[in-house]
Amino acid sequence: MPGHDWSKLKCVSIDLFDTIIALDTSDLPRVQWQGKEIPSTAPRVYDEISRFGCTLPFEAFLPILQKNQDDVLAEKEERNIEISATIRFLRLAEKLDIGSDDLERMDIAKRLTKVHMDCIDESSRVIDGTRPLIDEIRDAGVPVVLISNFDHAPAAQKILLRHDLTNSFDHLVISDGVGLRKPHPGIFQEAMNRCDATPEATLHIGDDPIADAWGAARLGLRTIWINRKSKDFPREDHLPERTVLTLREITR
Ligand SMILES: [Mg+2]
Repeated sequence: MPGHDWSKLKCVSIDLFDTIIALDTSDLPRVQWQGKEIPSTAPRVYDEISRFGCTLPFEAFLPILQKNQDDVLAEKEERNIEISATIRFLRLAEKLDIGSDDLERMDIAKRLTKVHMDCIDESSRVIDGTRPLIDEIRDAGVPVVLISNFDHAPAAQKILLRHDLTNSFDHLVISDGVGLRKPHPGIFQEAMNRCDATPEATLHIGDDPIADAWGAARLGLRTIWINRKSKDFPREDHLPERTVLTLREITR
C-alpha cells in the first residue's frame, strides 16, 4: 500500500531514536565489556569524573558505572517511569563518594550528564525519509508530536536543533519531562491532549514493537511499526495496523 491517508487524523506522533534519528557510534571510544569491544561514552564520563577526585582506575570504574546504569534501567522498566540522566549520574557520584555535599554532587552529575549527552548529540544522524514524511503529514494539516523515551529532554531539543528539525514538530513529549515512558498510556495520552485528539484520530509511528506499536495500539491509537530488521511481532494482541521496513514506504 503506497502512501498513507492522513486526512482523518488529528495527531500523528513519532518516536525519536531509531525511527527518525540513528546513533552512529563509530566515533565513540571503544571499551572492553564482558568479553566484547563496544562503543561507549564511559571513557569520556571517566575523564570528567576524574577531575572531581575519582581515583579509581578505569577498569574498576566501568563495572560501577554499568551496575548503576543497569539498576536505574531495571527501576525504569518495572513501572515504565523515567529517571533522568542527571539523577542517574547523581547516584553514581554518591556510590563513588565524589563531591563534598549534595549541592556539589548535583553539580558534578550535571557535568557528567553533559559529557554523556554531548557524545549522543554528536553521534546523531537523521534517518532517510524523515523530512518527506513529516512534511507530508504537516502539509495535510495534521499536527506532528515527537514522543520519545529519553532521559534528558534538553539533549532531545539539541539533537533536533542540530538537524534543523526543531520546527518540524508541533509538540515535544519527552519521557524526561512527563515522568513516564512508553508503553505507559500516560505518555501517549499527553501527546493526544496536546493536540486535543482522540485515540481513533491519532496515529503513532515508531520502531519499538512494544514501547511504540503495542503500547499505542493498546490505547486504541492507530499504528505504523517501523520494522527495519523484518522481525516477528513479539505479541499476539494489539498488532500494528501497518508494518513497514523504511520511512520511505509510508510516503512514496
Ligand atoms: Mg525508538
